[in-house]
Amino acid sequence: MNLTDPIQTLAALIRCPSVTPEEGGALTALAGMLSELGFANDRVTFSDEGTPDVENLYARLGSEGPHLMFAGHTDVVPIGDAEAWTQGPFSAEIVDGEMYGRGAVDMKGGIACFVSALARLIARKGLPKGSVSLLITGDEEGPSINGTEKLLAHAAAKGERWDAAVVGEPTNPDQLGDMIKIGRRGSLSGTLTVEGVQGHVAYPHLADNPVPGMMALASALIDPPLDAGNERFPPSNLEITSIDTGNTATNVIPARCTAKFNIRFNDQWTAESLKAELRARLERAAAADVSRTRRDAVRYTVNFADRPSESFLTHDAPLIEALSNAVSEATGRTPALSTTGGTSDARFIKDYCPVVEFGLVGKTMHMVDERVAVSDLQDLTGIYELFLERWFGKAGAY
Ligand SMILES: [Zn+2]
Repeated sequence: MNLTDPIQTLAALIRCPSVTPEEGGALTALAGMLSELGFANDRVTFSDEGTPDVENLYARLGSEGPHLMFAGHTDVVPIGDAEAWTQGPFSAEIVDGEMYGRGAVDMKGGIACFVSALARLIARKGLPKGSVSLLITGDEEGPSINGTEKLLAHAAAKGERWDAAVVGEPTNPDQLGDMIKIGRRGSLSGTLTVEGVQGHVAYPHLADNPVPGMMALASALIDPPLDAGNERFPPSNLEITSIDTGNTATNVIPARCTAKFNIRFNDQWTAESLKAELRARLERAAAADVSRTRRDAVRYTVNFADRPSESFLTHDAPLIEALSNAVSEATGRTPALSTTGGTSDARFIKDYCPVVEFGLVGKTMHMVDERVAVSDLQDLTGIYELFLERWFGKAGAY
């Protein structure tokens, strides 16, 4: 295999059916490529109660600083309806300039381009006076329990330290060069339950309907807005995703009403300060409801899910500039520096070193006929190669 060719490196990865949590040969294929480039590979399997065992790979080239990490995942989401694919989902077939396959953009493509970029740079300029690591999990699309978070701790416990990291997830909405992610919003989920007393709708004085109380409390969660956003982040947003009594009858007053919600929040909040704000809103709304309706106090509980993720913003100017300039030089476009979208494994990496994210165009990820333009593979390889040269160059490592 010619490692400098991202079409070859990606085809080899796509042909491994690594549907989460299966390794599917993908980490073995990747480790083989990295060995050829001189990396030392550390394969490690993590387990946890109630989750599948997952294989991971930490590979390092070089022994001194500066030390750059590239992070990603080789697991992919299921193929969905096999009949609906126009090409085999693990075939890596190229049709009309696009390579088809599950993981083509999310995110075997990003990994393949990084490997090829490194191979090209080494062929052209030799090894940098520094280190490059790949931190690759098989548990990004699964529960994310036996993946990046544990692999970081595992490597750090062995003395690994990083100066900066790039995550190769697809970050561009439409075209390569659209967007670099320099931070992410946090995520917090919760459940609000209002208790009532079940009864006959014709005898409401004998029952206690939880629905009006829920209406008052749920309204207080979404109004007023949490904030207006700021220069780097969109406004925080609370979405109520379900309000349910489980009641199928029209002549029964239900015993309880439950609402579920999720908040994507910016850096004006922490998960803790947000919980405090929501608890205060509920308390005020419950008190106002009593004085307005002269009903008994609304009996409610609010519970927040474990493991919320905090928002973060990366301030490492040399890292952001090296990547942004590489994108501009290769594509002629100025990437937006964004904090939009869902959470990613960058939320774990930010606890160890500054992290930015840049990869392919995300349009077809998780869809039937996931595919990537071959020209985008070449361009992303060029961007990563320029970035590596710039970043190590700035640190005096070339
Ligand atoms: Zn992904």
